[in-house]
Amino acid sequence: VSRFEGIVMAPPDPILGVSEAFRADIDVKKLNLGVGAYRNEELQPYVLDVVKKAENLMLERGENKEYLSIEGLAAFNKATAELLFGADNPVIEQQRVATVQGLSGTGSLRLAAALIERYFPGAKVLISSPTWGNHKNIFNDARVPWSEYRYYDPKTVGLDFEGMISDIKAAPEGSFVLLHGCAHNRTGIDPTPEQWEKIADIIQEKNHIPFFDVAYQGFASGSLDADASSVRLFAARGMELLVAQSYSKNLGLYAERIGAINVVCSSADAAARVKSQLKRIARPMYSNPPVHGARIVANVVGDPALFDEWKAEMEMMAGRIKNVRQKLFDSLSAKDKSGKDWSFILKQIGMFSFTGLNKTQSDNMTNKWHVYMTKDGRISLAGLSLAKCEYLADAIMDSFH
Ligand code: PMP
Repeated sequence: VSRFEGIVMAPPDPILGVSEAFRADIDVKKLNLGVGAYRNEELQPYVLDVVKKAENLMLERGENKEYLSIEGLAAFNKATAELLFGADNPVIEQQRVATVQGLSGTGSLRLAAALIERYFPGAKVLISSPTWGNHKNIFNDARVPWSEYRYYDPKTVGLDFEGMISDIKAAPEGSFVLLHGCAHNRTGIDPTPEQWEKIADIIQEKNHIPFFDVAYQGFASGSLDADASSVRLFAARGMELLVAQSYSKNLGLYAERIGAINVVCSSADAAARVKSQLKRIARPMYSNPPVHGARIVANVVGDPALFDEWKAEMEMMAGRIKNVRQKLFDSLSAKDKSGKDWSFILKQIGMFSFTGLNKTQSDNMTNKWHVYMTKDGRISLAGLSLAKCEYLADAIMDSFH
């Protein structure tokens, strides 16, 4: 008898489990709209040209594989903070940002969660309802208490702004407020600039600490600067804040696990101390981060020609998703004789769209139409092509009615 008898089977991951089911389906019509990974119009994985060029540069330079320091590659940490805040931001000039390379967005969030658990005992993290499924796991495993604030309004398939504000207001003073910097996953619904100002007001009033998750910089609007405007708006108010970054989507570096945690502090001295503690948390977890993705980012962001090429490629990717979004809206509007208003699809931004399909309807999408998606009705438009929009619209029509 096994010593591991008491270990029960874990449930499949709600997002990555969708890909497993997709792989097992032999129907040629099958579509994987579960995981948020960019595909080209042929629905194949896509490696950016700038990434290939940066990798060639690395080979030419014959770079070694020595350990990085605990905080990661210095050139990457500089580049990533500048990309986020803008190189001339006072928080950078005054050396008030503690930046530590992380294992992509997830690992960076996990480092911050450990910092919160250690230095803010009992403090709660407020997360949007709904949010990316892994947020809850991350804070649970770090033993950080969390609660939800209202975000999505099913009646309008839009933002429940009043609910959001009143829940943030009602939370205990000094809570952490987790915010999606842009392209909210899973709804694709972002606050307007005016709403961001009001959110900042209320967070300041309550002495909360904003904690941004930026997993789609450049992917929402196609512009790196525009997508960082929420974070910059808070930083410009002189607030202390945390930002987790990921290069999975905007540079297509999913498996390289490259990202960072940035903590903006009110003094350079505080930033140095925070950074030292983040390193202390990272050391026993994984010792030091991997170098490959860090060099790619540093090469792309640090080379003006590659940087411009990256921006063009990102616009191309964001543009393809926007075209698919438009085509899906057109197909649904043409097919639906009930007069239902589908314009919410056009208002959502980023990779995802919340369709409003419930669990039974989502099951029909998968079981009858071979469309793989999460059971909350979210679809990843990054996994859709123009050629498949009509088919998807048929599946949605059938499932709704
Ligand atoms: N945060 C959000 C909101 C995300 O959607 C994702 C990717 N699905 C991540 C963080 C982290 O992804 P990764 O660990 O690959 O950077």
